[in-house]
Order: sequence, then structure tokens, then C-alpha cells
Amino acid sequence: MAPRIEAPEFRLTKTDVVKKVEDILAPLKLSEEVQKRIREVYDEEMRIGLARNPSRKSCLQMENTYLPELPNGTEEGEYLALDLGGTNFRVILLQLEKGRVVSDEVQHYFVPEPLRVGPGSELFDFLAACIYDFLETRSKLDHKLPLGFTFSFPMTQQDLNVGILVSWTKSFNCPGVVGEDAVKMLNEAIQRRGDLEVEVVAVLNDTTGTLVQGAFLDRKCAIGLIIGTGSNACYIERVDRVEKWEGTHGDIKEVVVDIEWGAFGDNGVLDFMKTEYDQMLDKNSLLVGSFTFEKLFSGKYLGELTRLVLVKLAEEGLMFGGKIPSQLLRPGSFPTRFVSLVEQDAVLKLARPVSSESCFHELGIEHGSDDLKILQQVCFAVTERAAILLAICLSATLMRVDREECTIAVDGSLYKYHPRLHHLLEHYIIKMTPGKKLPSKLPEHGAVVRNKQVFQTQMSREPLIVT
Ligand code: BGC
Ligand code: MG
Repeated sequence: MAPRIEAPEFRLTKTDVVKKVEDILAPLKLSEEVQKRIREVYDEEMRIGLARNPSRKSCLQMENTYLPELPNGTEEGEYLALDLGGTNFRVILLQLEKGRVVSDEVQHYFVPEPLRVGPGSELFDFLAACIYDFLETRSKLDHKLPLGFTFSFPMTQQDLNVGILVSWTKSFNCPGVVGEDAVKMLNEAIQRRGDLEVEVVAVLNDTTGTLVQGAFLDRKCAIGLIIGTGSNACYIERVDRVEKWEGTHGDIKEVVVDIEWGAFGDNGVLDFMKTEYDQMLDKNSLLVGSFTFEKLFSGKYLGELTRLVLVKLAEEGLMFGGKIPSQLLRPGSFPTRFVSLVEQDAVLKLARPVSSESCFHELGIEHGSDDLKILQQVCFAVTERAAILLAICLSATLMRVDREECTIAVDGSLYKYHPRLHHLLEHYIIKMTPGKKLPSKLPEHGAVVRNKQVFQTQMSREPLIVT
């Protein structure tokens, strides 16, 4: 018999594949030890972020929001609210009676990419044009409306109506705005038009806005959390613990602190847990080297992270019959909503994973049934890591809140549309707040304002003990 000169066809056995897939996903698993270290690092950054003369700068901004107080149930009248942070800009008209929202009208305006990365003044002209359109269609152009501006980016606040942009995040990068006051830029755009009567009275981060809304629903609310395109939280801190605050504060006892945890790790303190996928994702991102924590899991990035893992699996010959689908090589081709879809199959336990199939179908990728199983494993892994990371920072923040009971107000697209994230968060928060009085299930309130969900936990007054 003639000697075989071609290499035998390379075929992985099932057990090989399972083992290799596990190896590739292993870096995404956070061991107890790694979790403990993240928690310690986070606590330390929070402490330094509030300290008066720290020996080094914290990566957590821990910004005073100048929010004078949470709603007390007496608010009345018509308010205009703006919300800028994602690709949709929202204009909202709120009608308040005795502190309750009795009606709200919302209109969405898509912010096209050239405006998100073009000159700042053009972006603000666009916002002013949307306000005009909104009021004109409702014949309210001549109403002198107070306007609250939710500007979901890191700001340095010097007053309730001054918000200096620290850096752009997510999909925005307009030159000429960092270091400038967003309220001033909006007012200037309003003046350039000369046909609007609105007055910007407050600028808020979205976490703060969520906390305020949560407090409308539940007076125990002390944390505002966003798990959306980006991620961040704010909480009520005791003024006497905010060492960096100079001077006297009258009878103000508490202050809402905007943590800006999206930037957690920007000084390298999280490098020890970053995977090759995280590094690649950052390298291809709009703002390289910034918003480390956010890039590990938030809505703008979770799908991309999944894509990078899938590419790796395909390159190793573990998926798609050894071929690498070209569709997957394009950055951004696997949106985060696909992760939610795949997770939906897991929740529904259908005989056929129709939602997962639909993702590959939409991408035009041929696949076998094992590919669907591996896809589910990848989505599980990135979701699980997201929940653990969030729970670590949330439970550490919860421990700082000086309340016997505390409610967390949550908003954001990833939180709302991901079918398992809420439950995973609940599970891990309970696990990570040892020695605390926690109900076995954090109840979800029925009465929610515009999809804001509130979940609640009972806290005892013990000091923070990290075990
Ligand atoms: C911003 C935060 C914001 C969060 C959620 C982050 O990218 O820096 O200010 O709260 O996204 O929208
Ligand atoms: Mg938002």
C-alpha cells in the first residue's frame, strides 16, 4: 500500500471539544479569590475617592451631585426633562401633583453618529431643535418651563445647574465639550435659536435621576443604578464621611454621591482580572484605555465580548465545522440584544433553541446544533461575570449606605431586556452581603414609573465587614 502522505483529517472528539471550550471560557470565570480582590480594590478606591488629601488619585470620581434633597411628596406643576446618554435623545413633559407623576409624555429623537462624534456645538443645536419640535407639536412654545437635563456622562458639578464634562463615554466623542459646562452649552444653543422660553434649572446624571424617581416610589430608596449602554451607580452618603468636601455644609447631613464606577480600573487596579477578550475589546473601542469596568459587561460591550470569544472558538476549530464565518469578524456584528435572546432560550427551556437560532440566522451564519450549545455557554459565561461584577460593587456600596433598610432603583436597557440578570444579581447580592438581614427574595415593586424597577433589601446597622 502506498504510504499516506496527506495528514489524516483532523477531527476533535466530543470530549476534546467540551474540554477545549471550557478552557477558552475559563478566564471569564471569577474565582472566589479574584472576587475578593476586586471587592477589596473597589472598597479602597471608594475610600480614596472620598479622602481629603489622598496619596494618589482614585479612579472613582465619587462626585458630589449637589442634589439638595430627594423628593418629599410636595412637588407640583409642569416640568420638562431631557435625557441624553445613548443613541436616543428623549424629551419628556412631566406633570406632578403632590410629588406624584400624574402624566408624562415622552418623545424619542435618534442622534445620528456624525452628531455623536462631531463638533459639540452642533450636538447642542440638535438638542435645542428637538426641544423646539417637542413643544411646538404640543403648542407649548410660550410656556416658561423649568428644565431638568439628564446628562448621562461623568461631570464635575459645582452646583445643581453646573456640570462640567469630565470625559465622553459610550458612543459619544464630540470635540470641544470636555472641560465645558453642559448646561452652558445647552443654554447657548437655546439662545442661538432665540425662540424657546425654557430655563435649565438642574443637570443630573442618569443614576441620580433614577434615584430621584425611585424615591418618588419608595422613601427607602438610597441607591440609583444604571445597567444600560453604560453602567454606573450613585448612593446617599453621610456628609461627614466625604472628607474631601471643604467648608461647612449648614444642616445638610447627607449627599448623593455619583460613583462613576464605569471608570473603575482605569488606573490599572483591575488589570489582574482582564482577559485577552477584554484587552482586544478595549483596543478596538472608541475611547481606548478608559471606562475599564463598564467595558467588562455593559450593554454597549457585552455582545462584542461574546463575538470575540466566538471568534476565538472558531479559530480553534471548535465551532462552525472548523470555518470562521466572515460575518463574525466584523466588530459590532453581534449586538448585546443577541445575548439576551440566547439567554431567553435558557429561561424558557424550549425543546428547540429558537431564539439562539434566530441570531445566527440574522447574521446569515450556518451552524449545527453543537454550535448553538456552545453559543449558550458563551452567553452564560459573559452574563454570569457581568452579574458577579455588578454584585461585588453593589454590595460594597450597600454596606456604605447608612440606613437600616435600603431600596435600589434600577434602570437601563441591559437590566430591562436581559431575562436573567435581575435574578442573578439578586442571588449574588444576597451571597455577598453576609451577616446582613436580607429577605430570601428581593421583591420587585409592581408600581413602576417608566420601567424603573426598584428592588429592596433590608440592612442591619453593622459596620462593613469584608470576609
Ligand atoms: C457614564 C455615567 C452614566 C452611565 C450610565 C457611563 O458611561 O459615565 O455617567 O451614569 O454611563 O448611563
Ligand atoms: Mg439612559
